[in-house]
Formats: sequence, C-alpha cells, structure tokens
Amino acid sequence: MLKMRFEALSESRNRISLPITEGEKRSALFGRNVFNNEKMQQFLSEEAYEKVQAAIFSGNKIDRKIAGQVAEGMKAWALSLGATHYTHWFQPLTGATAEKHDAFFDVQPDGRALERFGGKQLVQQEPDASSFPSGGLRNTFEARGYTAWDPTSPAFIYKTTLCIPTIFVSYTGEALDNKAPLLRALHAVDDAATAVAQYFDKNVRKVHATLGWEQEYFLVDKALAQSRPDILMTGRTLVGNSAAKEQQLDDHYFGVIPSRVLGFMSALEQECMLLGIPVKTRHNEVAPNQFEMAPVFEEANLSVDHNLLLMDIMEEIADRHGFKVLFHEKPFSGINGSGKHNNWSLATDTGVNLLSPGTTPMKNLQFLTFFVNTIKAVDNYEELLRSSIASASNDHRLGANEAPPAIISIFIGEQLANVLDELEGVSKGKLSPKEKTELKLNVVGKIPEILLDNTDRNRTSPFAFTGNKFEMRGVGAKMNCAKPMTVLNTIMAKQLKDFKKEVDALIEGKQLKKDEAVFNVLREYIKTSKRIRFDGDGYSFNWQEEARKRKLSHNRNAPEALQVLTAKESIALFKVTEVMSATELKAHQEVELDNYVFHLQIEGRILGELVYNHIIPAAVAYQNQLLTNVTGLKEVYGAAHKGFTEAQLNILEQTAGHVAEMKKVTDAMRDAKNRADNLATVAKKAQTYCNTIKPYFDSIREHADALERLVPDDLWPLTKYRELLFVK
Ligand code: ADP
Ligand code: MG
Repeated sequence: MLKMRFEALSESRNRISLPITEGEKRSALFGRNVFNNEKMQQFLSEEAYEKVQAAIFSGNKIDRKIAGQVAEGMKAWALSLGATHYTHWFQPLTGATAEKHDAFFDVQPDGRALERFGGKQLVQQEPDASSFPSGGLRNTFEARGYTAWDPTSPAFIYKTTLCIPTIFVSYTGEALDNKAPLLRALHAVDDAATAVAQYFDKNVRKVHATLGWEQEYFLVDKALAQSRPDILMTGRTLVGNSAAKEQQLDDHYFGVIPSRVLGFMSALEQECMLLGIPVKTRHNEVAPNQFEMAPVFEEANLSVDHNLLLMDIMEEIADRHGFKVLFHEKPFSGINGSGKHNNWSLATDTGVNLLSPGTTPMKNLQFLTFFVNTIKAVDNYEELLRSSIASASNDHRLGANEAPPAIISIFIGEQLANVLDELEGVSKGKLSPKEKTELKLNVVGKIPEILLDNTDRNRTSPFAFTGNKFEMRGVGAKMNCAKPMTVLNTIMAKQLKDFKKEVDALIEGKQLKKDEAVFNVLREYIKTSKRIRFDGDGYSFNWQEEARKRKLSHNRNAPEALQVLTAKESIALFKVTEVMSATELKAHQEVELDNYVFHLQIEGRILGELVYNHIIPAAVAYQNQLLTNVTGLKEVYGAAHKGFTEAQLNILEQTAGHVAEMKKVTDAMRDAKNRADNLATVAKKAQTYCNTIKPYFDSIREHADALERLVPDDLWPLTKYRELLFVK
C-alpha cells in the first residue's frame, strides 16, 4: 500500500506526451458529425425536411410517416460516416447522461443480414427505467419509462454511434429527467415573451432563451488521481495538507497553458468542432491546474445538451492524455473550486437580443421591459432560483468567498440603476407630451451610450447584468444547466404573462397608450423589486445582515434550499406555466435529497477507510520507528539519553495524540451515520447528514492533515496536494 503513491508518481513521470492535434481549419470540421440543417437537406425529401423544420419551430409532434422518412435519411447519413450503432441519449436524474446502444445490424427471417433503423426506433424507446432515480414516480409494478426523440436538438455521431437526444418520461408522462421540464419551460417562455415582444414588433413569432456557459474544471495526472481513493470515489479530496504554494502568487490565472494541457485542449476542441459544439475560449483559471472553456452561446436546450456532451468527451480525452478531469465544485480545500457561469438572454426569431439596448427609444423601451421583468421575476422567486443550484458538492462553494453567496441578488451597475430611478419618477396614468419627450430623449434614448462605458463588473454578485445578458454565477461546475435554466425561464414566463395582463388592462380599461401603459407597469415593478438589487460586496458579512432585513432567503445548504420546491407558491408557479406538476416537483425534490444523502454517505465511508486503512497504519508505523530509535538511544546512552530523545518523544506524543483523537471522532461519525441511516424520511436524513455528520468530516480532516505534517514523506500513503496540483 505504501508503495502506491510512489508507483503513481513514477508512472506519471513515464507517461508519453501526445502531440498537439492541429491541422485542418476548425471551421471546416464544424458540425461534420451532426445531422444538422445541411445534412437534413441533403438526406431528407423536401416534404420531410419542411415538416421537421416546422416541428422544431412550433414544438409540434412529427407524425409516424414523416418520422419513418427522417429515420431513413438519418440512417443513410450515419452509415455513410461508418456508424454501426444507435442510441437514445438522455439525462436521467442521476445528473449524468445515459445511453444504451443498439446495433443497426439485424438478421431477417430468411437469414439475410442488413442495417435497420425505422421511425419507431427513432421516435421512442423503452429503456428499463427501474434502475434510474424516479423519486417514487415509477411505482414498482410500472417500471416502464420511455425515451422520446427531441427533434430540436440534432442527432450526432460520437465514435461509431448515432446519438439521438431524447426526453425520458414515465409511463404516465411524468418527467424522469432534466430535459423534459426544460423543454416545457422554454415553451412557456417562448409563448409569454413572444406576446410581449409583439408590443414592439408585430413580426416576432418566436422567442428563444439563449445560454452560454463557462465550464471550469481541474486536470490532475491520471495515475496520481487514481492513487487517491477519495478522488476516485468522490471526485474530491477529503483529506490533504495544503501545499506550501497555492494560488497566492496568482501566477496561474491566464498564464501560459502547460504543453500537455494544451495537447488535451486541442484534441478536445477538435472533437467539439466535429460535434458542432462552438467552443471559443480556453484559459488557465485561478487555482493551480484549474482551467476554463467557454463556447459561443446557443439556444438554451441545445446549449445544455452541448455542455453535457462536452463533459462526457472531456473525461474521455483527458484519459487519453493521461489526465483525470475533475468537475467537482470543490476538489481541493484551501484553493478555489469550480463553477459554471450561465449567461442567459432572450432572442427573437427576427434576430433581436431582447436584453440588448438598441439605437432607438422604442428598442430601448423593449430592452427595459425585458430587463425590468427579469428583475421582478428573480425578486419574486429568488428562493426557487437558489434551490436550482443546490447540491452536496455546490454547498462547499456557495458563500465560501470564492463564489457568490447563497443569497440571490441582482447587480445592474450604477448607470442602469440611474435609468431605473428616473423611470420610477414617471407620473401615474397618462403622461404629458413634455414628460413623454423627456423620457424618450433623456432616459430611454440614452441607454446605449451609457452602457458602452459601463464596464464595472461586480464579481461577487450571483446574478449580474453584463451589458446584453444576465450572468448567473452560482451554478456548480458539475451541474446540469437544465436545472437553473428550467427555473429561470419558468419564472420569466410567469412574470411576462402577468406583465402582459397588467399592461393590457391599462390599455383597455384606462385607455392608456401602449407605451404609457408599459411605463406605468414598469414603474411599479421598479418600486416593488428594489430589495433584490444589490451592487455592493456580496461576500461581506454586512450583506448577510442587510439581506436578512430585506427578507431575502439565505439557505446555506442543499437540504434547506430544496424545501421551497414543494412550497405552495412553487407548485402554483409550475402548474400555471405547465412546466411541472405537483407530483413531479415532489419526486424531483426527493431525488435531489436522495442524491444529497448518497453523496455524504459515500464520503463518510471513504473517509472512514482513509482513516483506518491508510492514515492510522502510516502513523503507527512511524511511531514504531520513533520507539525503536528511542529505545536504542536509551540502550546506548543510558541515563544520558535525555538530550537525544526529547524531540522524538515529543513527536511520538503528538502523533499518538492525533491518532487517538482522530479515531474517536471517526468512531463517533460512524455511529452517527448508522443512526441517520435509520431515519424515516429522506428529508430528515439529508438534514441530519448536513448538520450532524458533515461537521465530523472537518474535525477528522484536521487530525489527518496534522499527521501528514508529522509523518515522514516516505511513509505517507496518500498522494499529496503538492503532487496533485503541481505535477505537469
Ligand atoms: P466573462 O464573463 O468571462 O467576462 P464574457 O462576458 O465574454 O466572459 O461572456 C462569456 C459568455 O457569455 C460566453 O460563453 C458567451 O457565449 C456568453 N454570451 C454572450 N452573449 C450571450 C447571449 N446573448 N446569451 C447568452 N449567452 C451569451
Ligand atoms: Mg463569466
């Protein structure tokens, strides 16, 4: 066992560096393995092509006959690229993606072999749902679950498999995945936002949400990572004394990318191009061995799929380059963890970004409408938005002064705050001609030039306006963006619907002009949503106090944060927007809580193993060395030994002290775990794991790290932070 760390180190030194794969122009590779528009035109009849396009636009179903034709075309294309298998690719509530490959190959009754793939196989499959989390949606006698084709996200070929993005629902139609609710939320926001956008432009027929994520991650040498049971099983280090040098010199951020890492990135980008993932930026992040990758933004559903696909292929390509990629939100204590900023906006089919100020007062009134409605939506449902980024691993990050706090607030910057202040001063009801001119010229008309100078960015804000989009910063690196995107677009849909109702009532009831009505409603929203706006330091303790006064929620951990999912207001919201039923919400909440408990159970067990099977034996071996030495010195020097043995005895006592204490705490943790596992409900279990068991992890770690500082390097069984973070 003790040899493991050194074997791992020598293996990592022996690894061969793969060449950096550059070559063909990236643009020439883009989308080569995707059944995109271009391929569809090539491989589908005109009728089938038109029908698929219409279905993508309207969200309507594709009939069996057309599905059959699409399947034929897709098969021909896939076979032409050497694909041998196909799979429905879906997002069960495990957080990962799932696939089950079937061969195209089939044998006819007469013994002839051929490649088969029809409309039936394209549209629907029936994977055994019983092994995926369902939160009680799938009762035991009805284990069936269906995957159903999502034509809005194009099929792609990865290696030799045709992958068809699908939703995953129970026999009775309830969502067993993250994609189905997202699609419903996107549909709801499309309806609501289109109706509002038509106040400003009658030609708008569709609004889609856009998402651009920024994926942070760590790369650790594969052999070294595998030598650590905690990284292997939990994706993070549960013990580990900090390295002498960490991120204090800020010498990694935006620094030169190490060549092995560049080889990995380059191969990854090449694969992304083939799969149509428009990755654009890559750079070093703040912590040693931490990096980030970001694409050009896309329609939100496609962007979510692309992020999940990216994470899958990153693991594989990292493996080829001798790395393990860590997506965990806090793999190493003492240095920054990893997040995934979600940049979000709304765009019309006429090519307008609704959160981008324009060049005319009317365009800007449109901008202000969507801008203020977003603020209002987040203010109304801040706690729900917080719940969408709750997980055991993200708990380590939120509020730890490296990522936004667990309190949701919005940063809009000084200039826009001034604009809102002026709008707030608008008089109620009809506006005088003078007032109107004043507003249009001096308030609404001035936004674009103002924003150009608005470069100040508040990195401590969880929800910041950054010029032409909002950036949600609390999302964890490991998370499926579908969760925050579902909530954000749902609350926006609800808000825009309410807004339209109010504006229409003023137009019809009070005979106000459209722009007057819009101004009037916006003014009220600005007034009533002030508490959510905060431009100060989100990391400060003062803000926690202030937020409490403003009655903003502050749920510090996932079990607390997840409770709101089944609150009356949440159930009503998801019902009226037709995004999730009460049953689905309850089930999804249960799955999240289950996941929380499982994570902590596993961490507790691994920590126990590390203590008993790795750390205590190493410490005891060292004690024996010390004892042998002391006994020897005594034998040789007799009464004169004192001056020579004092240091050894002191270290021996410290070591023995930590071993004794660490064992005590670990035993106590085990007992507490056993008690928690017997609790009746998952909510109780999650709370107990959070409040009672997790604190043991910290005290165990203190002793373990103290022992790492005492025990000789050659006896220490676990790969050290210095090695994990600095071996290139
Ligand atoms: P940073 O936040 O690191 O300073 P940027 O401000 O350049 O970086 O924004 C990065 C991300 O914002 C990119 O992933 C980009 O795709 C995304 N983004 C830009 N415009 C939009 C938009 N209209 N909708 C959604 N995402 C967007
Ligand atoms: Mg960013």
